[in-house]
Amino acid sequence: MNFIETRGNDGIKPQEVPFSEAILNPSASFGGLYVPKELPSLEKDFIQNHVNKSYKQLAYDILKAFEIDIDEKEINKALDLYDNFDDASNPCPVVKVKDDLFVHEQYHGPTRAFKDMALQPFGSILSSIAQKRNENYLILAATSGDTGPAALNTFKNKSNIQVACLYPDGGTSDVQRLQMVCEDGKNLKVIGIKGNFDDAQSALKNLLASKSFKDDLQKHGIKLSAANSVNFGRIIFQIIYHFWSYIQLLKQEEITMGEKIYLVVPSGNFGNVLGAFYAKAMGVPVEKFLVASNENNILTQWINTGIYDIRGKELKLTKSPAMDILKSSNIERVMYSLYGAKRTKELLEDLNQNNIFEMTKEETSKLQEQFSAINSDDAYGQKIIKEFLDDGYLMDPHTATCLKAYEELRQKDLKTVIYSTAEWTKFSPTVLNSLKQDNIKYSDKDALDEISSKYNANLPQSIKDLFNSKINHDLIINKEDIESQIVKFIKES
Ligand SMILES: *Cc1c(COP(=O)(O)O)cnc(C)c1O
Repeated sequence: MNFIETRGNDGIKPQEVPFSEAILNPSASFGGLYVPKELPSLEKDFIQNHVNKSYKQLAYDILKAFEIDIDEKEINKALDLYDNFDDASNPCPVVKVKDDLFVHEQYHGPTRAFKDMALQPFGSILSSIAQKRNENYLILAATSGDTGPAALNTFKNKSNIQVACLYPDGGTSDVQRLQMVCEDGKNLKVIGIKGNFDDAQSALKNLLASKSFKDDLQKHGIKLSAANSVNFGRIIFQIIYHFWSYIQLLKQEEITMGEKIYLVVPSGNFGNVLGAFYAKAMGVPVEKFLVASNENNILTQWINTGIYDIRGKELKLTKSPAMDILKSSNIERVMYSLYGAKRTKELLEDLNQNNIFEMTKEETSKLQEQFSAINSDDAYGQKIIKEFLDDGYLMDPHTATCLKAYEELRQKDLKTVIYSTAEWTKFSPTVLNSLKQDNIKYSDKDALDEISSKYNANLPQSIKDLFNSKINHDLIINKEDIESQIVKFIKES
């Protein structure tokens, strides 16, 4: 199946492209994104037939339904990476925590956040296509803490791919920083930036616009690709696990076939919930998507009012940093599905020029038929973390935002799945603050030790090992020096 563009075609790029092209070169006409020309329809028989099948089989069958132009051998090799998750047969377990409430744990991969669910197989596939074409790609990543470790882990020592990863020095947890700076692999460069995540991201944007940088890349025969969720190669793997949610509830005999459920997704760039939106369109019976945000409430505002307004807004730094966002990339793909390319281009150009777009009443209602949204603050999240641990369930601050949606947005008495996007081990100081109801600044190491011994909580070996690992990347620089450092890295490797 081929891919088309969310903002229409400019007459220069091809009208449609195969999957391999869409993921190697993910930027489409007019700054748009690639989306599948149509979605495969998988319906009830497909879902029923997978109740007793493995996650890998489900993933394989969904990828097949998309008719992607990737060799069978390469698909299987990519999916085998789920064998490295805690439980190879069930990489993302769906756990019952209350009568009608289930937690889909997406953090059982190598870097303990949901980014592994897609980046693990995606890294393998991207490298295989680059090899087949005999081309070399540079992936530039700016991370607030979860994408960086996951991207470095998946691409390390992969052929025909290099990764330069920028993180805000002091802006991530110790665990997240160590996951990056201890990663080895000749094809990886990790750079701390003096500044916050916005600075890292805008430095990256400047780099992408720099003529001298493009010339340097060309001279060394290197093309640019992307590993964030603007790349459909990530989204395709983020559809599969929403089928898994439904299948697990069937298997646990919590629902019967056809019964609708709510899905609650803690959101930032809207990639996780976009996968859910596609899964519903492909046949998963979902009543509604409940979008949870933190104090950066731009998604709540958009869904509740139809207005996306970032004029004069500043990013707030919260205890759920992976959701700290102002411009959310993947709303574009939802807008394309609901309103078409012409209108999507119009609205997003408004946003670029004026920092605001306004949808009509009809458009807003159409969005609200699918999504509801709510946001909460850090104090609410900390209260939830404590409440749940008192009942024996440990969750991270991103997951905790989902409970507000569960409590306040449901209009029907339906089974509800909330998505747990990170393990508590990545945010242990916040979790310890929640439990002790203090605001002492704990180190990650102390918080991990205290929580794991007091509550008998499991610490994965990969997290324990971080504190004794060799630091392979110690570069911390000013924004102005990023270009020269990356060019130096390209020349040396
Ligand atoms: C990336 C991330 C999110 C946000 O996911 P989006 O797909 O960008 O909406 C939420 N929680 C955690 C822990 C994450 O790493």
